[in-house]
Amino acid sequence: MVRHILGISGGKDSAALAIYLKNKYPQMKLEYYNTDTGCELAETELLISRLETYLGGITMLRAAAGSPEPTPFEHFLKASGNYLPSPQARWCTQKMKLAEMEKFVGDAPTISYVGIRGDEDREGYVSTKPNIQAIFPFRKNIWSVDVVNKVLSNNNIAQLLEIYTSLCDEETLSEAKKIIEKPLTKDFYYSKKTNSLLDLDTKLFNKAVFKFLKTTDYPVGKLDDFPLVDNDDILVRDDIFRILEESGVGIPDYYKPIKFEVDGKIGTYNRSRSGCYFCFFQQKIEWIWLYEQHPDLYQKAMDFEKGGYTWNQNESLADLIKPERIRQIKLDAIKKQEAKRQAGSCRLADNIGDVDEDNFCANCFI
Ligand code: SF4
Repeated sequence: MVRHILGISGGKDSAALAIYLKNKYPQMKLEYYNTDTGCELAETELLISRLETYLGGITMLRAAAGSPEPTPFEHFLKASGNYLPSPQARWCTQKMKLAEMEKFVGDAPTISYVGIRGDEDREGYVSTKPNIQAIFPFRKNIWSVDVVNKVLSNNNIAQLLEIYTSLCDEETLSEAKKIIEKPLTKDFYYSKKTNSLLDLDTKLFNKAVFKFLKTTDYPVGKLDDFPLVDNDDILVRDDIFRILEESGVGIPDYYKPIKFEVDGKIGTYNRSRSGCYFCFFQQKIEWIWLYEQHPDLYQKAMDFEKGGYTWNQNESLADLIKPERIRQIKLDAIKKQEAKRQAGSCRLADNIGDVDEDNFCANCFI
């Protein structure tokens, strides 16, 4: 039997995806899970508990069960000799999240639904385990890059053409043929070919991929029926906020901008994503938010900086909160916000930062 899983990170996009799929495909037996690091903000935990009520259950996974350390993070930190994780050495995600998720899945063929939005230009986590296949329901292209590469490979042109022939009328086929028969080159690469086929007919492309996967070992290919092939919704940031608000689950409080004043100028700050309170991916202004809104957590993050290890390159958390440094960080944030305001909208959804998305780990922040 194929399992359908959805990781609840505590962020807005995975929360909205769970609500969306539950309402749109009530027949799908989705298993929701959360990998608990023990280091989330209380606001994140509140969102997860509201979602748990809405969804009717979330399996909580916690690494290092039975450890005498207070949190899984502290367990692994101790084991690594206080070596703090970083974007280059992200052992935290691997040990606390991916390993637990893969243990939860075991060897069963499994489809993992991931909430990367239609307005994001990035790929999500693609499991290295062949029995786990990622699907992205919010995007126009719901398939992962490995699947697309396989289906559109120049070696499979004849097979894809045969599948299209079996699925569509003459007129559509003659258009599809022009795209399918054109081999991939450095000018006509995978994403261009994918987009051409999606633009021609998204549902047809999905049906063709589904049929193709039936000739492979991919978990989706083992299903008799995959309702998402008939879904051509594209959901963007505004949709996410709407889904969360309409469901009553709501937006986590840490997203809500708080005003601050420096040198007579007004700016706002907020936390832009879920994840550990000390996450090294957060922006400098978010560290200041943590210092001023959750001083106890900032102190704890500071306590982890030992033996020359710091969360940020070239700057300790003690240095980051020197009054002149705080002033500078706030002024920089105000400058960015003014530029953003001049460029466009002031809606809440637009002011909630989603910067440098490519650098983030899908498992923690979606
Ligand atoms: S939220 Fe940040 S610190 Fe926590 S596991 Fe993810 S990448 Fe690591």
